[in-house]
Amino acid sequence: MKISEIYRQKKTVISLEVFPPKITSPVETVYDTLDHLKELSPDFISVTYGAGGKAKDRTVEIAGKIKGDYGIESMAHLTCISSTKEQVASGLAAIRDAGIENILALRGDIPEDPDFEFPNPLQYQYARELIGEVKAAGGFSIGAACYPEGHVDSPGPAEDMEHLKEKVDCGADFLVSQLFFDNELFYDFMDRAAKAGISIPVSAGIMPVLNRNQILRMTKLSGCSVPAKLERMLDRYGDDPAALREAGEAYATEQIVELLAWGVRGIHLYTMNKYEAAKRIIGSIERIREK
Ligand code: FAD
Repeated sequence: MKISEIYRQKKTVISLEVFPPKITSPVETVYDTLDHLKELSPDFISVTYGAGGKAKDRTVEIAGKIKGDYGIESMAHLTCISSTKEQVASGLAAIRDAGIENILALRGDIPEDPDFEFPNPLQYQYARELIGEVKAAGGFSIGAACYPEGHVDSPGPAEDMEHLKEKVDCGADFLVSQLFFDNELFYDFMDRAAKAGISIPVSAGIMPVLNRNQILRMTKLSGCSVPAKLERMLDRYGDDPAALREAGEAYATEQIVELLAWGVRGIHLYTMNKYEAAKRIIGSIERIREK
């Protein structure tokens, strides 16, 4: 089923994100994770796409199995910045052949590998070009990324919102947000999006804090701010992994409960392939997720 249809049918859409294991690890590890995530009855599961690495070939395989073997709707992420038109066309064909109907169409981060060879000249600059191509290809529900605090490369929130609107105008059916730790920033973003004429559903991206260094690296990379209450939590429990995990899960759960009460259209949990945390968090909103 297309995700646009799921948003039409459900008040709140609960989705999970997994990433393909590195090519040096067996792909089965993600299926062990999915065996557990399945129990949460998510509305869909998305699979990330590593632009530069070989694991990118695993995205379609995993997303295809989520749909075919697990019976859960899936979404394949697809990036364009480091691809040629031919590579994108064959990526789209592979996604279609695997029976996947949903694509998160992204520009992608610039690969860090200094030896990475970009097409010369670049054939894509922005996600909106990919969105237009996926739309023209037909048959897919298209998601796009949004950034409650603005994208790191953007000169400011107004310009970022302008470009987000362009993605919607090019054919995005729904948006999935970057992680954030302060719900007020998300509410402010939603107000600004509505004023910019964006009315498609937006899922809030939530990442549980399970590891101090990982979260500091993520917030630095994404430009996402760390509110004082989260900083206090990192200071107090940062050296005790079990305590930080417990506090991080409680923090994410509180964020989700508030967002649901506010009326968010979707929660997208970045599971980081850690099913235990996902189970405790989503398991604890069983009664309220459909209210
Ligand atoms: P765009 O929408 O193209 O925006 C990129 C930047 O360009 C922004 O600053 C925007 O304001 C600016 N911009 C856009 N249009 C114009 C214009 N016309 N003129 C000037 N500036 C413009 N990355 C991966 O590699 N793999 C993944 O699987 C993946 N999954 C993600 C999932 C989610 C939910 C999110 C939020 C991000 C994900 N990313 C992933 C990261 C994403 O690829 C990066 O954030 C990337 O840097 C931007 O991608 P985008 O699609 O938002 O780009």
